Order: sequence, then C-alpha cells, then structure tokens
Amino acid sequence: MARTFIENIAQKLRIIPNIDKKVHQGASSPLRKYPSMEEWDNHTELDAQAWPKQVERNFSLVPTTCFNCESACGLLAYVDKDTKTVSRFEGNPNHPGSRGRNCAKGPATINQINDTERILHPLKRVGKRGEGGWKQVSWDEVLDDIAGKIRASLNTGARDRVVYHVGRPGHEGYTNRVLKAWGVDGHNSHTNICSAGARTGYALWHHHDRPSPDHTNAKVILLCSSHLETGHYFNPHAQRILEGMMAGAKLIVIDPRLSNTASMADHWVPTWPGSEPALFLAWANMILQQDLYHREFMESQVNWEQYLKAVHPEAPCTFETFIDKLKEEYAQYTPEYAAEECRIPVEQVIETGNIVANSGTALSSHVWRAASIGNLGGWQVSRTLHFLNVLTGSVGTKGGTAPNTWSKFKPDLPNEPPAPDGWNELHFPPEYTLSHFEMSHILPHMVKEGRGTMDVYFTRVFNPVWTYPDGFSWIEMLQNEEAVGCHIAMTPTWNETAFFADYVLPMGHASERHDINSYATSSGKWVAFRQPVLREYERRQGNEVEFTYEVNPGEVWEEDEFWNELSHRIDPDGSMGIKKYFMSPNKPDEKMSIDDYYQYIFERVPGLPQTAEKEGLSELEYMRRHGAYQIEDATYNKHEKEGWPTPSGKQEFYSETMIEFGYPEHAIPHYKIKSHVHPENLQGDDEFCLLPNFRLPMHIHSRSANAKWLVEIAHRNPIWLHPSDAKKLGVEEGGLLKIETEIGWFIDKVWVTEAIKPGIVGCSHHIGRWRRQQDAGNRMMTNTVSIEDRGDGKWRMRTVEGIVPFESSDPDTNRLFWRDGGVHQNITHAVQPDPISGAHCWLQKVKLSLPQAGEEYGDVEVDTNKSFAYYKKWNSWAKEREHHPRGERRPLWMKRPLAPKKEHWFIDKDSQ
Ligand code: SF4
Repeated sequence: MARTFIENIAQKLRIIPNIDKKVHQGASSPLRKYPSMEEWDNHTELDAQAWPKQVERNFSLVPTTCFNCESACGLLAYVDKDTKTVSRFEGNPNHPGSRGRNCAKGPATINQINDTERILHPLKRVGKRGEGGWKQVSWDEVLDDIAGKIRASLNTGARDRVVYHVGRPGHEGYTNRVLKAWGVDGHNSHTNICSAGARTGYALWHHHDRPSPDHTNAKVILLCSSHLETGHYFNPHAQRILEGMMAGAKLIVIDPRLSNTASMADHWVPTWPGSEPALFLAWANMILQQDLYHREFMESQVNWEQYLKAVHPEAPCTFETFIDKLKEEYAQYTPEYAAEECRIPVEQVIETGNIVANSGTALSSHVWRAASIGNLGGWQVSRTLHFLNVLTGSVGTKGGTAPNTWSKFKPDLPNEPPAPDGWNELHFPPEYTLSHFEMSHILPHMVKEGRGTMDVYFTRVFNPVWTYPDGFSWIEMLQNEEAVGCHIAMTPTWNETAFFADYVLPMGHASERHDINSYATSSGKWVAFRQPVLREYERRQGNEVEFTYEVNPGEVWEEDEFWNELSHRIDPDGSMGIKKYFMSPNKPDEKMSIDDYYQYIFERVPGLPQTAEKEGLSELEYMRRHGAYQIEDATYNKHEKEGWPTPSGKQEFYSETMIEFGYPEHAIPHYKIKSHVHPENLQGDDEFCLLPNFRLPMHIHSRSANAKWLVEIAHRNPIWLHPSDAKKLGVEEGGLLKIETEIGWFIDKVWVTEAIKPGIVGCSHHIGRWRRQQDAGNRMMTNTVSIEDRGDGKWRMRTVEGIVPFESSDPDTNRLFWRDGGVHQNITHAVQPDPISGAHCWLQKVKLSLPQAGEEYGDVEVDTNKSFAYYKKWNSWAKEREHHPRGERRPLWMKRPLAPKKEHWFIDKDSQ
C-alpha cells in the first residue's frame, strides 16, 4: 500500500518505524513459544537492547534446572556465543514437571549469577569469629585444612562430630553418600522448621510422608496452604490447579489469611490456626453419616480389623461394625462444633463439607507448611486431612492424592558405602521418639545444655541465624569455638550465618552446578539434570573442562567436585577406608569424575538407555542435551502391586505405634491437642496470634536479597492487621506497633487490611535481612544494623541505615528507589518443638502495644536466657512421655534421613 506524504515524513524522521525497509526474517516467521531443539546449538535472534537497529545474536541453548525452590523447574540458559556468558534464562519445554514455565524466581537466576556483590573466591576468617574480617585463600589451602580437621575428628572414633547441615538440598543422595563414606551420622536439615509436622501425620497413615495431589484431574482441590502462589511445588502445582479449575474442579482454600491462592478460590475458609482437624473431622462425620464413604477402598485397604480387635474386642469383627463404630466415634465433630473451633459460619462448614463429601475418588488435597508447621499438634492436620482421602477412596487415584514416593525417582548410586556407624543424639535426641526429622531448631539449646559439640560444622545453602527462630542463640553457639570447632559456610551468596563462619566457600547457582532432581510435581515420574551450563557449552565446542570452577565466575566451585576432592584429602592413602568410594566405578585406578558418576546413574534410569540410543547419544549426553526425562506418565494405584509399607501392611487408621510409644490417646485421628495459640490460651485485648509462616511468592527463603528483579517487587514485611483490631489498638495504616514474644520484641509498621482474620496478625518471614557495617553483600535488600551484646543473654539490634543506592558495574544498583528493608522478626521467636512430631511450631503468642518513647521502627530485643528457659519448658513435655518399646529409639519402620546401621536404632544395644 502506498504511504501517505505524512507517513513518509514520519518514517524519515523515525517517528514511526520504517515499514518499507527489509525486515529481519525472524519478524515475519510465525510466533513460537520456544525455539525448536534443532536450533539449540545455533539459535539466532535479534538483540532487544539494540532496537531499533536489527542486530543478530547467536546463542547456544543449554538446559539446567532452577535452584530457587525445591520444584527444580526446567530452565534454558541462553549462552551468547560472542561473549561466552549467559544472557538470560527461560523455561525448558522438555521438562515434564514445569513444561516450559517458571515463576518469577526462575528467570531471576540471571540476577544471582550477575550479582555484583557475590562471593567469588574462598574466604578465611581474620580476627575473632564473627568480627567480620576475611582474606582470600586458595581451594588447596581450604581442602587441606578442612580435611585435616575431619581426619582428626574421625580418628577419635567419634561418629557425630562432623556435621553437614543443609538448607536447600536440591540433589538426590550425593552428600548422604559422602557422609556414609566418612561413616558419620552427620546429616542435619531444615525440615523441622518446614514440613516435618505434616510429614508425621502422613507417615502415621502409610509410611510415605508427603502427598502428591493430581490436581489436573481432580473434581475438588482442597488446599490447606497457599499452593497456587507459593507452596511446594509452586509453579508445577499452580499450572495443574488452574488446569483442574478450567475443567470444572472446585477450589477450597483454608487459610486465616486471604492469600493470592485464597483470592482465586471458590471457597475461602479462614479457620483459626490449629483448628483445622476439627473442620476435617466434621467433614469426615458428614461423609460417614451420609454413607458417602468408599466402601471398596476402606474395606480392602484400611486396618479396620486390627482396630476392632484391639478397641472393640466384644463387637463382631465386620466392616459394618467398623462403620458403626466410626459413626459413633466421630459424631462429636458436628458442624456446629467445627464452626465454633474454627470461628467460621456453620453454613460454610456444611456447604464446603458437602462439596468434599461428593468429590468421589477425585479429591486432590495438600497441606504443606501452613497449619501443620504452625501449631502445637500440627501433625494432626495432615493426619485428619488424609482421613478425608481415605474415606473418599481418593488415595492414589486419578484426580486423587498419592504418596509422593510413587512419583519420585531414586537413583542407584555407584559403589554405595554402608550406613553410618553411630547415632547423633544432637540430631535425634532420645526424648523425641517420633520426631520425623532432625531437631535442628533446638541445636543451640542442646549444645548450651552440654549435650554435645561439633568439631567440623558445614552449613550449606543454610542461614539459621536469620531463618530460624531465636537467631541470637545461634550467634552465641557459632561464636563459641568450643561448641563449634570449625564452621564452614558453603553458600552462593552472603548471609547472616556466613558472617559467623571460619571459612566462606562460594558455591554455584542453578547454572553453575551438577545435581539430579526428581519431585512429585504431578501424577507422572521424571528425572532432571541440573548442570553448569558454561561447562556444557564448552563441551559442545569440543573443549574438555576438568573442574567446574574453570568455567564458573571467579573460583565458584560446585559441591560434587568439592566433596570428591575433600574425601581424597581426608584419606590420601586409603587407610581409613574412605578413598575407595571416590574412585571411578569403571576405572578403579582413577579418581571418580563428574561424568563417571552421572553416566553410572543415568544408565540405570528405566527407559532412558533405549531413548538415548535412538538419538545416537549416551544416557549422560541425552540428559545434557534435553535436561529432563519422563520415566512414567502416570503412577496411579501403585498400592495394588506394592501394598503399604506399614506394620499392618494397610492404611493405618489405628496406630499401634502411637500406643507403644506412649501416646495411646492418639491411636486414631482426633482433635485432642489444642494449639498453643488456641483462643483459650490468649488473654486480654492485647494478646494475638502472630502468623509468620507464609512467604511472598517472589522470594526465596534467604537467597533473593541479591536478585534485583525480585527485590524490586517486594522488600518490606509490615504487620497485617484487621481494621477492627487496628481500631482497638489505636493504630492506623503505616503506624508502628511493638510486638512482644515470649523472649523479646520487635517494632514493625502496620498494614491495615481485611485480608487477615481478626485476632491474628501476619508477617511474611522472608524479609528483614540485615548486615552490620563490617559485612558485605546483599545491599539491595539489607538494612545496616548495629548489634549490641548487653551481657547476660540480652541482645539488641537497631537499624542504623535502610537501603541506599550504590555504585557498581551494574547501573541498576544506583537506581534503587526503596529505603525500607523491613524487620527481622524470626530472631524474636521462641523455639517451640512439638513433643510428638518434633516440628517447630511457628505461630507465636504475642502482645501488641504502641511503642514507648525511644523505641523505633526495626528495633529488636531478645533475652536468650529467657529463650533457653522457654525451650526447657517445651522440652519437658517430650521428656515426660519418653518411651522406648523394646529399647527402640524410634519406630523401626518409620523413615529417618540417612539411617544409621540398625544396631544404633536401640537405646540399649542389648535389647535388640
Ligand atoms: S517454582 Fe519458581 S523458584 Fe521454584 S523451581 Fe520453579 S521456577 Fe524455580
């Protein structure tokens, strides 16, 4: 079409684009979601930054997986062939879990690798531990020194004084294999502040301790969590929840807070925290009274005969009797009772109950952190939730909820060492007989009690000083060189715990390390490969790389090679029996290489050898090229072949284990423990329940402070306060409140909102990061604080300066427009170990008041003597019920991470 005179002038003046000019061919080709795989070695596109010039850039696209939460979604790194750097990350369409999609945190990996303040070299402390002085050292020096310390510890015969404490694991079995080779019971995790409460409830039913809901095919999606926006597995689950809803599923969300997930729900049920079992049992009662239970599943899969024989021996042992007894047992959970406990309208209990009762075998349910990790007795939440799946027969069905292990690939590892030869009582103390994971949140308190010390303590992508409750007790422990002989912080970015280390070792982000991932993100089963993308890029160019730090920024290394090298230096001549586990599985005289290790594993993935062969690739080459492999499309009804790995071989409605271990009142699912934040335990108008266990969807627990896109979206954590409570307290939007916990207090700003239930205050736990004047890193999201040790356990933190723009090689760091970095609330929380599950009960009973003169925004005070006394109180509840049938430390049939040899599972070895 001919141009008008005005258009011609406008084109010449570049007011509008020159549409007559020959355009780049890409602009006229059809729009595509992803470049096809044939282009992955040679993908050309226009440089968006160069617009309006049409400058072509050529890329090699290398798959890896995201490391910014557990889901391990697929990423595709765009490696610029001119600069040999990663230009950006997008989704990997070949990944069966994420299917090409990511949340904001996936693409923000580029911020992390380009962080101008990242740690690029191994650092060794100068001066006293915690003073903040560092010097650069070589990897050789690091390896020799740490290896010597580990060797010395092992040579004493101790098997519990070398400890690896992990925050974000993100791999399958690598470090457990290392710890086994060293022979130590040295695995510690963060799980008891995360999922352990829920795990206990599930494990009591069927040994498997995590649920895998099939949201896509569900009729009813029941979330006691905020999975659509943040929960594990966030992006993979969110896309399947939406698929389910688009196909007609109803979404019910239980949460005292109007989360983004709740705002998308058909029914938002804002229960009082900890009351959820009352609601679930009221729904169970409705299912039973209306005879809507799934007879076939119940009759064949539940240990009802064992229950009747033990509890009702006089009654006929028939399924009909069982149902009659259930109806009697749960009749007490009326909708009215649930409504009163939950503080919601009875009509809502009935309406939502009818939806659940009529879900057939397509009820997909999930609880992750939420109520199960918030409350005393939180493990009852998942136990009663799973009861609904059992009653509806929706366990392991299409559209139902399966055990997560059905969808998780467990690799066969080369040359597996034997189980550790010891039992670490700092991780599994005898009084926590049913704790599902290590009692890591009370580690400093047990050390203070004199229950043990550590020679070598690795914290790996783990930041307890900031993430955990009672962080000042962690600082006290880490500063005590008698308690912790050597603290090594392995971390991709600076954090508050690394400030109190002897060594800070830089580790790789998602695109700088090797890991195997497999998670139950759907009803299928897959395995994915995280890989250092520049190493793979060099390989594609025909260049061999020996160690990953040769291609990573600075001297950033990956753990796999680090542990391998460290193990060789602990036992250079093989006399300690360690070295042999780090030799090549195929070439016994050579050190095991990365390729040896992963090729061995991938050769054993069912179906992968045949698929790889079709492309003329080895199994490892296939994974390096595709990034992921689907092993099974669906994993429904596996119990029909595999059964249930419980003592009865059935779904355990009735738990003899609970009786044997001293909790007979919990033999069957009930609501017998009222939360420590139950309204009965709150007095006066100023006592509230603090809900700190939710996160904002764009934040990574403690690794987003260097991701500029994420920080820009959210950087402060005000107190959520209902308007009626604000009026009562005399505070307005943006005003200050003093929040007093059992061990201290903090001052925060207020956000007045109807999105929180009255009587409850919320505060996101991912913000409020800090550093002292002498500390480095994370300036985009950390307040500068002063920390004062006032003696006798009294600590004070004060914000000296908020966030300020700074000069760096990235011009964006000089454009920061935010100044408020929030408040560190977790450090004022008391530890509250649940005596049964061992999980930390995150919710805090707090007193709210207006600050006094001189108390300012961001102020924090804590008394660690008070926190120790408070720990003793909660600990005594476990000690009172300590019980070891047959001398067992804990039930032999239940899981334990990195399980030691069986003889160590007994308190008294003679009782085996
Ligand atoms: S959900 Fe987001 S943070 Fe988690 S792995 Fe996927 S992209 Fe990464």
